[in-house]
Amino acid sequence: MSSYEKFLQIGLALDPIHVGTGGARIGRVDLTIVRDPVTQVPKIPGSSLAGVYRTYVAMHFEEERQQQKQNGQQVREKPFYPDCAGLGLDENRGHCRQPDCPVCTVFGFARGAGQEGGFAGLAAFTDAHVLLFPVPTRQGPMWLTSPMALEWVGLEVSGVDENAVYLENDAQNPLNLGWLLLPVKACAQMTEIKDRLGDLSVPEHIRNRVALVPDRLFAHIVNSNLEVRTSVSINPETGAAEDKALFSYEALPRGTVLVWEIIAKNPAHFRIGSQPITAVSNPGDVHEKAKQAHSYLEYLGIGGMGTRGMGRLKVLYENPPRDETSVECAAATSSAASEADSPEEESDE
Ligand SMILES: [Zn+2]
Repeated sequence: MSSYEKFLQIGLALDPIHVGTGGARIGRVDLTIVRDPVTQVPKIPGSSLAGVYRTYVAMHFEEERQQQKQNGQQVREKPFYPDCAGLGLDENRGHCRQPDCPVCTVFGFARGAGQEGGFAGLAAFTDAHVLLFPVPTRQGPMWLTSPMALEWVGLEVSGVDENAVYLENDAQNPLNLGWLLLPVKACAQMTEIKDRLGDLSVPEHIRNRVALVPDRLFAHIVNSNLEVRTSVSINPETGAAEDKALFSYEALPRGTVLVWEIIAKNPAHFRIGSQPITAVSNPGDVHEKAKQAHSYLEYLGIGGMGTRGMGRLKVLYENPPRDETSVECAAATSSAASEADSPEEESDE
């Protein structure tokens, strides 16, 4: 059996999502979100995803354990939450580190005080990238994408080179994307792109309003159309606004469609303290456990400002890609998709 399997996930922002850089920037906004250092397109780092998934999976198995206990069933002694969630650095309430723990095997555990090495975990998370980004136009909202973004869902699009917006058909009149006015060109394979998005459970009202732009314009338009909100820090003791506490923060807008991958390693290739892993038996199992976080993501969300109604992310698609399709928007070259390298295998034997 292969050493790992990749599972493509597609999610829809139900609220604005703010995953911050943790530091303030001097400029337009006080609290900025994380951007890809190369493309400058905002993203959710894989490390943030891993942390949130871990917490929610631990909550799920703790709820399940409590339920089984109420039903008089035999249950594990060690609670999953909060012990197996978090960074596990607390000496007394740290990760359980057991080969039968679905949280510690899937997400790994830290090296505890006076204990042997940690374990990296069987699930790895890529960054979540913007696949479709809602922008206002005079024809109503359109969902913007680019060849680079579509590569994440296995589509190879070429011929999108000009400073233009590519739709199903070309048009005489230019179209505004936010404040930017662009000529309209036709992308002959828009139907194939829409079909692929349909396979990935992207809702029809979004699929029908897809607009393609070149990669360089994509970053520019996304960054010009982020949600920026202004808020005030509240003093928890007085319940009143703090003096000089007005701050602004940016977020991916509601309606943004994100794509990420869960890379599930094969448990058979690992041991924990010389014992085989029993919580999961194959990569599909690893993904199945990680997936338990999805209903929590939809209600509890990801990122900061949760108390201000931010962060809910509905997972639309949680299965592996069926096949990879190649699409060309014009008679042009196509480049081969590069296979990701096999992830390093780690074990603490
Ligand atoms: Zn555990």
